[in-house]
Amino acid sequence: MDIHEYQAKEILSQFGVEVPAGALAYSPEQAAYRSRELGGDRWVVKAQVHAGGRGKAGGVQVCGSDAEILEASEAMFGRKIVTHQTGPAGKGIYRVYVEAAVDIAREIYLGLVLDRSSQRVMIVCSGEGGMEIEEISAERPDSIIRATVEPAVGLQDFQCREIAFALGLDAALVQSFTRTLKGCYLAFRDLDATMVEINPLVVTGAGRILALDAKMTFDDNAMFRHPQVAELRDKSQEDPRECRAADRGLNYVGLTGNIGCIVNGAGLAMATMDTIKLAGGEPANFLDIGGGATPERVAKAFRLVMSDKNVQAVLVNIFAGINRCDWVAQGVIDALRADPVDIPVIVRLSGTNVEEGQKILAKSGLPIIRASTLEEAAERAVNAWKNDQAKGAKLRAV
Ligand code: ADP
Ligand code: MG
Repeated sequence: MDIHEYQAKEILSQFGVEVPAGALAYSPEQAAYRSRELGGDRWVVKAQVHAGGRGKAGGVQVCGSDAEILEASEAMFGRKIVTHQTGPAGKGIYRVYVEAAVDIAREIYLGLVLDRSSQRVMIVCSGEGGMEIEEISAERPDSIIRATVEPAVGLQDFQCREIAFALGLDAALVQSFTRTLKGCYLAFRDLDATMVEINPLVVTGAGRILALDAKMTFDDNAMFRHPQVAELRDKSQEDPRECRAADRGLNYVGLTGNIGCIVNGAGLAMATMDTIKLAGGEPANFLDIGGGATPERVAKAFRLVMSDKNVQAVLVNIFAGINRCDWVAQGVIDALRADPVDIPVIVRLSGTNVEEGQKILAKSGLPIIRASTLEEAAERAVNAWKNDQAKGAKLRAV
């Protein structure tokens, strides 16, 4: 789960990380009012969306007056911002953060990630702040400093000092740099984050270390332990398809192809997507209905896949162990009876209660295409989809 910059800053500041003074606004008028509350004579209006790269896309504007704040935030509210991290659809701007403009002497990149190969939290730093980490690793890989944290003892002061010296920070800044790094580490560890990124972490003209940007991502599976973090979820920033799926307890990832997939288990989902590609098609999604799925759950999954207007064929591929093929068949039929569709539906069932499942499909009288192997199912799905396309099928209205 991702959160907004202002939320990450609030959390990090509770762990001792210094951030500029700022306040949130839900309208341009409120943004101007916020700047008066903050005081000072230069502010930055920042679009709050779950994506970086806002600066280059007009989502970060320096302003020197009420009028400029109104103008900058009017241009942001209600618009979609497209950055290299949002995907082509962009993300809607419904909140802006008004922050005191900071006199920047130096920008540093700081990231904390879960490094799977060392099974440790890894600190990644570079003197090339302001650039995205992907650019830094492509253009200045030698500038990247890495350190892993031994979980039994946590992040040590000497590690922070080593990084500070490698960055060439002034000795007078080492203490506050250490406090910042340790604060980030503790926030990461205590709140089950999977990523903390401060880009840029700046040294100000007056010699302070401030987090100018902040991004945090959390482990979804740990959110039950942190209700205060879980409530920061902002559904307006999520893919609506994935959001609906999460609300129904389904594992769903939206993709860009045309063949909707309903599968059980992530491994089978991956294999199904590969086989569709081998057969010359493109999957529209990854949907795992999990184990022991009831007909209601299968029907919900079916409706969810159908709600994506790019879906022009549906492939149901179930290898039932804990699941029951008869329940899956019933769920597909219930969904089709409630909302008939005019696109090909291919079902391949295998495992527990497969005969009953096949009988239910056969007796339904619905034009369901059946297949006995995954390969056959993928080929039939792709062929049926291609035939429809040849006949001039258009995008469905949903
Ligand atoms: P993004 O990473 O989404 O582009 P940032 O918060 O990193 O957004 O802002 C982009 C750039 O804008 C920063 O690298 C920094 O140079 C400048 N900036 C951001 N906040 C401030 C601020 N409070 N004062 C001065 N400059 C800022
Ligand atoms: Mg940034």
